Amino acid sequence: MTGLARGIPRIHVDLAALKHNLAVVRRHTPGGRVMAVVKADAYGHGALVVAQSLAAEVEALAVARLDEALRLRAGGIRTPIAVLEGIFDTDGLQLAAQLGLDLIVHDALQVDLLERTSLPGRVRIWLKVDTGMGRLGVDVHAAGALWQRLTDCPAVAPPVGWMTHLAHARRGECPETDHQLALFAIASAGSGAPRNIANSAGILAWPRTHADWVRPGVMLYGVSPFAGEEGADCGLRPVMSLCSELIAVKALDAGDAVGYGGTWRTPRATRLGVVAAGYGDGYPRTLPSGTPVWVNGRPVPLVGRVSMDLLTVDLGPDAADGVGSPVVLWGAGGPSVEALAASIGTIGYELLCRITPRVPRITLGAEADRSAPPEPDCRAPAEAPSGARA
Ligand SMILES: *Cc1c(COP(=O)(O)O)cnc(C)c1O
Repeated sequence: MTGLARGIPRIHVDLAALKHNLAVVRRHTPGGRVMAVVKADAYGHGALVVAQSLAAEVEALAVARLDEALRLRAGGIRTPIAVLEGIFDTDGLQLAAQLGLDLIVHDALQVDLLERTSLPGRVRIWLKVDTGMGRLGVDVHAAGALWQRLTDCPAVAPPVGWMTHLAHARRGECPETDHQLALFAIASAGSGAPRNIANSAGILAWPRTHADWVRPGVMLYGVSPFAGEEGADCGLRPVMSLCSELIAVKALDAGDAVGYGGTWRTPRATRLGVVAAGYGDGYPRTLPSGTPVWVNGRPVPLVGRVSMDLLTVDLGPDAADGVGSPVVLWGAGGPSVEALAASIGTIGYELLCRITPRVPRITLGAEADRSAPPEPDCRAPAEAPSGARA
């Protein structure tokens, strides 16, 4: 880790894994257009780094909010960027038009705004229909008339696309998804405009949702959208690894208490490792004793409470690990973020997004990018060498 102070946690962002995962998206959706979702700081990986890496390889990026798109444009990203929550006032609309952003319209008020604002250029629009998510989106029955108004609106660049969002993420039969698709087909019938439905779950499990565009999020980062599965089960490679080091190792006697509240006591004499990582970095405090932490390439149990800056592991009585021994808290060479999340009743998405700003990011795989010859059309999925997954 040249140039980085020792003894601090960091995340490794593996851009080769990111590209591998994009290739998995392409394999599932041949010929489809990809809108890569980089909201919430690219699920905690760093939106600009991820956007720079994907910009030439996807047809569009997507963020939740206007300010996220602003930061990407300010960072030099010229790829189309869709704003999933759209805009809410004239200033937002003007800014979006100046920056050449694509907007999702999910409410009739946004149609009104487009109709009464004159813009420096036309904006591309996706009309989002609520087919069962019960969150953002216009009513199925109102959709046709709104689509026509948007299509007739001088501020809007045709064609006006159709979008909806799936509420369920599981494999196999899913009557709720069937119902969403049926409603979406009714709403968008006969328009001939591009349709955009699938998130990661749709891409991986339901070819019928693939349509013209897809919107992969979590799978790009190597994480499975399905409960009880890991990215590897879908052929994905983790992009984020949360890594640190031991900053102290000490010999404890049987019966010694460890950590706040003394919630764990040594069952036998052992060597205790103190890891520089805690909930102040985004490692959840609720992870219990026994959670695997990888030290020097092997799993050892987390013991005692996770504190803000530190956590402790039982290295075992014969351990040879010392200060500076490498630690992987999740990701390549460690436990999966999905398994950790499941053990505390949440999903991998949340743990990825919880990494705090004090944790530095180290980008891996960027050298390979730079040495690659410039390619005007980088869409052909370049397969990563098999077995590259740690
Ligand atoms: C976040 C999001 C996605 C991506 O979902 P994943 O499950 O991460 O693939 C797609 N579409 C919309 C509207 C979203 O908000």
